[in-house]
Amino acid sequence: MSTKWNPEEARSEQGFWTPAQQREKTPPCQAQCPNSGDVRGWLGVIAQRDKLGISLEEACDRAWRHLVERNPFPATIGRICPHPCESLCSRAAKDGAVSINAMERFLGDWGIERSLALPSTPDAACTESIGVIGSGPAGLSFAYQMARRGYPVAVYERRMEPGGMLRHAIPDYRLPRGVLDAEIRKILDLGVVLRPQVEAGDAISFEELRKRHRLLFLGMGAQAARRLRVAGEDGPGVFSGIEYLTRRKHGQLPAIGRRVAVVGGGNTAIDAARSARRDGAEVTLLYRRTRGEMPAAAHEVADALAEGVRFEFLAAPSRILRDDQGVTGVEVQRMRLGAADADGRPRPEPVPSEIFTLEADTVLAAVSQEPSWPGFGAADGHDWLHTVANGRLADDIWAGGDDCGPGIASRAIAQGRLAAEAAHAQLRGLPPPPSQPARPALDPASIEPDYHASQPRAHAHRRPQAEWLTRPEVEIDQTLTSEEACAEAARCMSCGLCFGCQQCFMYCNASGFTRIASAEPGRYYVMALEACEGCGKCIELCPCGYLEARDGQGW
Ligand SMILES: Cc1cc2nc3c(=O)[nH]c(=O)nc-3n(C[C@H](O)[C@H](O)[C@H](O)COP(=O)(O)OP(=O)(O)OC[C@H]3O[C@@H](n4cnc5c(N)ncnc54)[C@H](O)[C@@H]3O)c2cc1C
Ligand code: SF4
Ligand code: SF4
Ligand code: SF4
Repeated sequence: MSTKWNPEEARSEQGFWTPAQQREKTPPCQAQCPNSGDVRGWLGVIAQRDKLGISLEEACDRAWRHLVERNPFPATIGRICPHPCESLCSRAAKDGAVSINAMERFLGDWGIERSLALPSTPDAACTESIGVIGSGPAGLSFAYQMARRGYPVAVYERRMEPGGMLRHAIPDYRLPRGVLDAEIRKILDLGVVLRPQVEAGDAISFEELRKRHRLLFLGMGAQAARRLRVAGEDGPGVFSGIEYLTRRKHGQLPAIGRRVAVVGGGNTAIDAARSARRDGAEVTLLYRRTRGEMPAAAHEVADALAEGVRFEFLAAPSRILRDDQGVTGVEVQRMRLGAADADGRPRPEPVPSEIFTLEADTVLAAVSQEPSWPGFGAADGHDWLHTVANGRLADDIWAGGDDCGPGIASRAIAQGRLAAEAAHAQLRGLPPPPSQPARPALDPASIEPDYHASQPRAHAHRRPQAEWLTRPEVEIDQTLTSEEACAEAARCMSCGLCFGCQQCFMYCNASGFTRIASAEPGRYYVMALEACEGCGKCIELCPCGYLEARDGQGW
């Protein structure tokens, strides 16, 4: 049933009045975000700053604080998230989805430039020692959420520097390391102790860590690259995409020759291909399905094409060809799409006798990653961790991120956060956090896009394409200006929450809606139920779907 009030329907079918009510809904952007980001909330503070009586400066500070409640990496995620939140944005059909990811970056950069500190509300009673294994986004998100609640937290990291794949794999032209450093610094400033170059399960045993800490979080990611499983794979000239990217980031670039073949269709494959172009190679990417099935973000694929990466779709390596000197090429099997597999994606199958040779000096295999944690007893090996609700493995062991299955950074952050919220509740004897969202989903039909004037979507500025390969490690995407960010925030239609447009106030009788003296985002008018005459006009006029017919009455 639509939540939009239809006066004709109501009168003809019911013949009695139904009072209206104010009810917050979950907007589509939040429903699509892996970290349930309150996009509407942090955009709303900026968009409604005049109504709230605050300056732009104060609005952006408040928006940043709101944003980092769930995500302590807004500048990082604002650069790399494939932003599924934008896919169903209610504004999309009108004049383009709100540029949520670009706004997240704008606010993240704002927080870095102004040295804003992450919020903390330490509770003196929270003294239990917390150990975190792995300093990727999952582990650091968990560490942040526990530290801000007052727990002493130590993070064990086998590498010299923290950040996981964000630091060791994602290239600088997408995510400058200074940005990541600044956001990690804010987490460490809460008192989180980083113990670098300590490999859990090797330098210190799992059992010893369990004794040392009241509670452990496993955020070790998926560090092992899957093999191609074809003849000729072992030997010089074949690297995993992760190894190649990590060596580049550490200044230990391997010799790759003039022609590079990359195998895979995900983020790692695209990053490896674009990096190899930066290292001067002619690059061909082999993918066994078509462009439409590539797991990599579509805009990354487009950028790779623009940089001269050649794509060979429906193609899978069947053998690596070698001579005494090393790799000479790849024998490639032509594929076609067959019936859908368990994920609903068409399964690639070989086309009989269609085989060709691709000349190559180096092969970069980027066909997926899997966990690898020697020394962890029952969890030893390459199995994914299987957690129950909110990342719990045992009372004192929790987990999240890519060691529970491959994902993206915002999902790893979400899993770290959810585990921390649940672990905190357990330690404090509180009820577990609810697993279902308390608010109903927004009914798209309740939105009135025509209420808002047309305004094209703001696009992030980019450095000229001619410079992408000549200044290979310099970041390509640039941020929005303050003016653009303000205009973009104002494009948000505040789906499912009052933004103080006054429509209800203007059309209702004198005592129906009363303006709140100290307005807050989402709280501008109090509604007097006893004054409601059931005409439904406010529901009809409300552009954001916040007003609806009262539950359990009328139609
Ligand atoms: C090349 C590449 C590009 C990507 N691009 C994107 C992108 O554009 N957008 C996006 O959202 N996601 C992207 N991802 C995915 C994203 O990086 C991961 O989903 C995310 O980093 C997972 O976080 P995590 O904390 O679970 O694991 P990780 O980031 O892998 O961090 C795990 C950490 O644990 C440490 N560790 C492991 N074992 C031990 C041990 N025994 N003792 C101590 N420390 C240990 C590791 O050294 C590492 O620092 C990309 C991934 C790759 C590889
Ligand atoms: S984390 Fe990603 S999906 Fe969530 S709001 Fe940010 S850009 Fe959107
Ligand atoms: S218009 Fe705003 S609240 Fe609605 S889906 Fe888009 S970003 Fe979210
Ligand atoms: S009509 Fe306007 S002021 Fe009234 S509830 Fe809806 S958004 Fe808020």
